[in-house]
Formats: sequence, structure tokens, C-alpha cells
Amino acid sequence: MELNKDIDQFDIPLAKRTYLNNQNSTLLRKLLIFSPILLLIFSVAALRFIRNVELIPLNNLKFQVERNHNARILGHLPYNETPKEKLVLIEPNIEVHMDMRNSLLKMREEAKKDGIYLVFLSGFRSINLQNDIFYSLKSIRNQEAAERARVSAPPGYSEHSTGFAIDIGDATRRETDFETDFENTEAFKWLIKNAAKFHFKLSFNKDNKYIDYEPWHWRYEGSIEALKVFESSNRKL
Ligand SMILES: [Zn+2]
Repeated sequence: MELNKDIDQFDIPLAKRTYLNNQNSTLLRKLLIFSPILLLIFSVAALRFIRNVELIPLNNLKFQVERNHNARILGHLPYNETPKEKLVLIEPNIEVHMDMRNSLLKMREEAKKDGIYLVFLSGFRSINLQNDIFYSLKSIRNQEAAERARVSAPPGYSEHSTGFAIDIGDATRRETDFETDFENTEAFKWLIKNAAKFHFKLSFNKDNKYIDYEPWHWRYEGSIEALKVFESSNRKL
């Protein structure tokens, strides 16, 4: 058979053989040019199909989760701004959600009894303020938005706008404020051991692949409203 095939090849006149080869290479070239386009069309179609399947609302809760999942930006979830009437002052320039006030102050008192001096650095931030922080620092540092999002949430995506987030420092180690080195302070060690008793939880830990580790940033999950706010985040989508 093999031999017959070879003979058949040579039975075709040279001109015709060349023509056939040319035709084959043209076809190959066309395929090479169009294959990325075909792949793209196929991928888009597949993605649309997957999205449609995912977005079928089995019940309201499921639908809510899917919507939040889709709205996640660079690892940050969207959060509404807490209305003014739900905020209370805990320091001359720090406001937090009224639900977490008592627990937060009690945590600071209990820490003091153990010789640990917690200092509150930042609480509620309006979406406008977050906007200023995100964009001014971005331009100062000449960072790309994606790069900036690793260290600061884009406006509308900060846990601080819920009033349920608090940045904490060690009063005896102020040089570690907002620094990863805060994890080596006595205050941080105390928080890791005790914060859960007061319903506080570290938001951005070391295994978050989008957002940098923030040992100073804690959030409150001790009220129904707070739990609702962070429900999607806790699902680890
Ligand atoms: Zn923070």
C-alpha cells in the first residue's frame, strides 16, 4: 500500500503537484490566521453559556450571591455607604457604625487590663473620601489602578464605608501604623488571641491573592446588619 501511494504521487504531473502543495499551504496559512479569531468566538460563546447557567436565580439568595460575585473588582466587593444617622464618634475624628461602638471600646478596655494599648487609626470613610485617597495616592505614586487596589480599595468598594471596619495600631509602636510590621507588635498578638471574643475579624489575611496583607485592618461581625454586609465576602467566592 505504502509503495502504491508513492507511485501515485509521482504519477501526478509536476505542475499539478506544485499546485496541490500551494493550495495546502494557503489553507494552512488561512487556518493559522483565523484560529485565534475562532478561538475567541468559541471562548465568548462558552463564557456566555456559563454565565447564563450561573445566573439562573434558583432563589433570591443565590441570585444575590451571583450578582455580588460578578461585581467584585480586583478582589474588592462593593459596599454601600452607611447613612450618617447610624454613625457615632469614638474619637475626635473617628466615626464607626453604632452597632460596633460598645464592642470596640470594650475590646480596648480589656486590652489595657492586659497592658496592651490599642490605638484607633481610621474608622468610617465616606465614598468621597475613599475616592480622594484612592485617586490622589494613585497619581502621587504613579501607580496603575490594579496595583493601587492591592493596598487601597477603589471608591465604593471599601469596608470602611460600611462603618464596620477599623484600622488599629499599637500605641507603644506608632512607627508600625499601617505597616505589615504591625504583625510583630504585642497589640497584634493580643488581637489575634482575643479579637474574636469581641466579634472582630482580620479582613485581608496572607492568603488573599488580590489584596495585600493588612494586619491593622479589622472588621466587626457582631450584629445582624454587619453579618449581612459581609455575607458575600465570607462565602470566599
Ligand atoms: Zn483599613
